Formats: sequence, C-alpha cells, structure tokens
Amino acid sequence: MSMVEHPVALKGVDTFDVNKVRADFPALKQQIHGHPLVYLDSGATAQKPKSVIEALERFYAHDYANVHRAVHSLGERATQAFEGAREKVKTFIHACSTREIVFVRGTTEAINLVAQSFARPAVRAGDEIVLTQMEHHSNIVPWQLLREQTGIVLRVVPVNDAGELVIEELEKLINPRTRLVTLVHLSNALGTINPVRRIIEIAHAAKIPVLLDGAQAAPHLGVDVQDLDCDFYAFSAHKLYGPSGIGVLYAKEEILDAMPPYHGGGEMIRYVSFDKTEYNDLPYKFEAGTPNIAGAVGLGAAIDYLNTVGVERVTAYENDLLDYATKAVGTVPGLRIIGTAHSKASILSFDLDGVHPHDIGTILDRQGIAVRAGHHCAMPVMRRFGVPATTRASFGMYNTREEIDALVAGIQKARELIR
Ligand code: PMP
Repeated sequence: MSMVEHPVALKGVDTFDVNKVRADFPALKQQIHGHPLVYLDSGATAQKPKSVIEALERFYAHDYANVHRAVHSLGERATQAFEGAREKVKTFIHACSTREIVFVRGTTEAINLVAQSFARPAVRAGDEIVLTQMEHHSNIVPWQLLREQTGIVLRVVPVNDAGELVIEELEKLINPRTRLVTLVHLSNALGTINPVRRIIEIAHAAKIPVLLDGAQAAPHLGVDVQDLDCDFYAFSAHKLYGPSGIGVLYAKEEILDAMPPYHGGGEMIRYVSFDKTEYNDLPYKFEAGTPNIAGAVGLGAAIDYLNTVGVERVTAYENDLLDYATKAVGTVPGLRIIGTAHSKASILSFDLDGVHPHDIGTILDRQGIAVRAGHHCAMPVMRRFGVPATTRASFGMYNTREEIDALVAGIQKARELIR
C-alpha cells in the first residue's frame, strides 16, 4: 500500500508530547467494559480539554449574563467574553475582520444560512450549483431544499477510486449558469484533503464564489481564509475540542453585507417599527436572538488550547499517526481502506470482507475502543464505493500509536469472532 502523502511536513512530531496532551482530557482517563478507553471517534466529535470545561464553568459561575444590551457589569463581562471569542476565531482562521465571523449553531446551520440568504435571492430556475460526490449530507440537503424552492440544478463532481475529486470534471461542470461551488475541505468519510486552493482558482476565474465545508479541516489542518481566498468557510466548535451547539460561518465582508438576514428577531436589528425595520451591522445582522454565549466562550478556550499545543504540531503529529495506522490496518487480511487519496488527514475508513461495520463497532466497544460504524452522513459516497457503510477510526491530537495497535488487535478479534 502506498503511503499517504501530506501537505504539511512532519516537522514538530518529535517535540509533540502526547502524554501531556492526554493529561488535559479528563474523559480519556476512564475505563469502558474494563478496558482503558481508546477514543477513535473525534471525526464525529472531539473530547474536551480541562481548559474548555473550566472556561465554561467559570463563565457560568461568574460572568454569565446576556450580551450586548446590558448596562450592568455582568452584561459587560459577558459581552467582552463573547466578543473576545469572536476575535480569537478571526485570528485563528486569519479573517480580515470580526465582521466576517458569524456565530451559528454549527457547520450545518452555516451552510443552510448560505443556501437561504446568499444563494436563494441570487438564483433563478435553471441556475446551477456545483458540489461533489463526497459531501456530507449537510452540504447536500440544503441545496436540495433550495432546488425545491427555486428550480436550480445540482451538478456533482465525481470521485475516483482513490477517493479524490476528478478536477477535470469539475472544470467541465462550470458554465455561465453556475452560481456557487460548494465542497468539503477534508472529507469525513474518506479522509481526503481536497485541492481547495486550485478549485477556488478555477471557480474564481469564472467569477463563481466558493463555500468550503471545514467541519473536519478546521481541527486538523489549520485554516487561512485569506490565503485560500474562499468566499465562505463553515465549521463547528465541537470537532475542534470546543462545545457543541456553536460554530462559525466565515464570509467575505462585502458578500455578507449584500446578503439579507437569515433569521429575524432581537439582536439583528437597529430599529424596528411596524412599517420598517433597519438591520444591525455585521455580523449581528445574522445573529438573531440570544446566542450560545457560553458556547462561544468555550470555542475561544478551545482555540487558545489548540494554539498552545500548536496547530502545525498537531497536524504533523496526526499525519504521523495516520501513516502508522494506514500501515497497521493494512496487515489485516480482507480489510480494504475506503479512501486512499494522496493527500489525507486524520480519518481511516475501511471495509472488512463480510463483516458488518456495526458488528465490528460493537465488538470493538467491548474492548473499550470507540469507532464509528455507518454511512457517516455521506450516503452518496458510500454508494460510489459500493458499500452501505464503513467502519471509521478518526484521530485527534490525543491518540497514540498504542491505541492504533489496540484497534488492529480489536479488528483481528472481530474477524475471528464473526467468521
Ligand atoms: N460536514 C462534515 C464534513 C462533517 O464531518 C460534519 C459533521 N459530521 C458536518 C458537516 C456537520 O457538522 P455539524 O453536525 O456540527 O453541523
């Protein structure tokens, strides 16, 4: 099996102290069915470091109040914490301004927001949106809803046998009716890192904006939205070692400025009368209602944590882990890795001859090993590879080679038990 190729060199692996990192994650210290927990499901959601848990506790215990409108001290503190988190997000993804950082519930809501507020007013029946065969359902269904509402056409970029996008096909699909290209940065089902910079160049050459689903990429790759020049970038805090129920839509300011609000209500207005309502400035125009204040604070703490460990070092360490795991599971007879792209990160999906992924997942759980078994909310790409489901091990900065050895031993055991 060929080794996985990574865009980031393995510098930093030697200085990465995984035991120190592990000590920061209380959930990892437990036993499951009498075995030490081996958590290989960070692609679904990541465990939380103490600093995030403590930041949430501190915020609720000392600083909690509603944001923006209060004249009292707690309100000021809460607002500072909330807006401070926005500042951290801005720096983390290298946005130009906090006006470009909209807090949402997560990647799913961010994509729905773009579909309804950006695309819906801009499209007419017959206009086209380009997406790919490897999208998560959250980057498929919002566009199907839009198709029902407006009569747009969805064009799907195919995936080759390695799990890579066929870029020549993408180039052919772009035409004067294309209104948006939307795709996943790092696939949750295959682990493929898409050549997003090149795709953005292709789309921009035809003046077509690009939305990147960064749910998996944000925790593993490091994101620079200015360098990528993407128009929209969506991600969720819970995969980034932060809380659930909070995420981010980044969009270029001039695009956000021209978009109508997504939801109406408090916070997103400057002036309301029954005749006329004036909307608030960016990004508040898109943040109707009381936001997930503590969630934002927790996301800020998660970003601080990642920065302390060092995003580049995390990437390098996880790449090393993926290489090790790719080789190790390759020794299991009858195991086929689904997704063998040259450029991959943090995700290892596989099919084991004749064994249902749910059975593997259940047997692994008895040994304390948490993996995901299913279609990973990416049914079209499962169909592309002729499987209803896969078993997926996904890695975070706290996983170790020993845990991968345990996974391989667990898979061998599953094979023996089931055959
Ligand atoms: N896109 C990808 C690639 C994902 O992996 C996920 C989460 N599995 C999502 C979108 C949706 O994220 P959320 O459920 O946090 O909105």
